[in-house]
Amino acid sequence: MSMIKSSRRQFIKAASIAGLAAGMPLTTACASNHSRGGKGRVVIIGGGTGGATAARYLKYLDSAIDVTLIDADKTHTTCYFSNLVVGGLRSLDSITHKFDNLRASGINVINQKATAIDTAKQTVTTADGKSHKYDRLIVSPGIDFKDNIEGYDEAAHDIMPHAWKAGPQTALLKKQLEAMPNGGVFVIAAPPNPFRCPPGPYERASLVANYLKQHKPRSKVMILDPKDAFSKQGLFQQGWTEHYGFGTDNAMIEWVKGADTNGGIKRVDTKTMTAHTDFDGIKAAVINVIPAQRAADIAVKAGLTNDSGWCPVDRKTFESTIAKNVHVIGDASIATTMPKSGYSANSQAKATALAIVELMNGREPGTPSYINTCYSLLTSDQAISVAAVYELAGDGEIKAKNAGLTPMDASKEFKAREVEYAKSWYKNLVTEIWG
Ligand SMILES: Cc1cc2nc3c(=O)[nH]c(=O)nc-3n(C[C@H](O)[C@H](O)[C@H](O)COP(=O)(O)OP(=O)(O)OC[C@H]3O[C@@H](n4cnc5c(N)ncnc54)[C@H](O)[C@@H]3O)c2cc1C
Repeated sequence: MSMIKSSRRQFIKAASIAGLAAGMPLTTACASNHSRGGKGRVVIIGGGTGGATAARYLKYLDSAIDVTLIDADKTHTTCYFSNLVVGGLRSLDSITHKFDNLRASGINVINQKATAIDTAKQTVTTADGKSHKYDRLIVSPGIDFKDNIEGYDEAAHDIMPHAWKAGPQTALLKKQLEAMPNGGVFVIAAPPNPFRCPPGPYERASLVANYLKQHKPRSKVMILDPKDAFSKQGLFQQGWTEHYGFGTDNAMIEWVKGADTNGGIKRVDTKTMTAHTDFDGIKAAVINVIPAQRAADIAVKAGLTNDSGWCPVDRKTFESTIAKNVHVIGDASIATTMPKSGYSANSQAKATALAIVELMNGREPGTPSYINTCYSLLTSDQAISVAAVYELAGDGEIKAKNAGLTPMDASKEFKAREVEYAKSWYKNLVTEIWG
């Protein structure tokens, strides 16, 4: 059996699940698969979760569409599970994915940085000077940072890593954790809303504490938050109390809310390794600065963002409300109540791919629904989760229809199963996207 046949069979299986996950009736997905009348070219910027999912589903739903995927890098390292890498529970290699299988499914993958989008001429320019014409463009470039912390310039990224884009930054933060002295402080400067992965900083605190508990038990994690509340807070704090003495004099995790510091860290000094709030300077062995965020540079440069720094879209098709024939998905888009997560990006990508196929075939796109699930590890064998199905409401907003959290009285066995679900979620997702 040829590789292509085998990967196509796997793909059909994955696509059937995806049809359900994105709220597409399976019959619609299948019907589209058999209509080969689509013509035209779709260019996608970003081979991360949103972009690579969209590329795969476009090609699957209508093989007559010419699909070009542009990513600045030769591989993509997922941010999800990167906290496990920092905490020593996984290797960086295990969360790094190649584009070979996307190429094998007929997608033209270009490893170049997109430097400009001309929305009038409908072209994308890449760093090698080439121009790529599109009929429809999907933009899924993720995030870049705002300058909300004085002293946190490009050079500071190598001293106080953000590790909010996975790869070398993740490896650096892990190295710093391993090198810190027993008794040292690991500061996490959490970002203000809205930002990529709302539970992410708190999962990171948990897995850093999990590492410290085993290797440097006199150390602690201090989260300096500009906010007064955070995602899954009750469950996190319950877990921290159980595993890391939260709330006691010997707590391994301390959370300082925004109201106590007048908004968290405002300035850093890389020479003295100090993080400054309005009232205090905290010297630390490791300072993990996660700045405020906005849509990635290319989206800003192309004029796809509004004053918020994110890209407004029509929530039915994720078509930009600023530029015609341009769809913005994933973290860069404003998807109202959907969190900026990998699973959201994956769900938005499937619905957008189907909408584009319908539009390119002269049909009206159906009404989508979306899904998100997000697991967070508290320790290597205890996890919590949040899940929701979203629908497009009459006012054009995306609203959660059904949502659920791990119950506060969940047993140890329940939370151990959540870890297994998380691992299986990761494997299924990355196999569907890059596998
Ligand atoms: C620590 C952490 C933990 C997380 N955990 C979870 C989790 O458990 N579950 C979950 O669902 N989500 C999680 N997330 C969030 C998730 O990673 C993001 O929401 C998701 O990756 C968004 O997908 P995206 O396509 O918008 O961006 P990305 O996946 O970041 O992809 C963007 C791609 O665009 C490329 N790119 C950017 N600019 C250009 C350009 N100009 N030219 C060419 N290419 C470009 C980049 O190289 C990158 O490959 C986590 C995030 C972090 C930081």
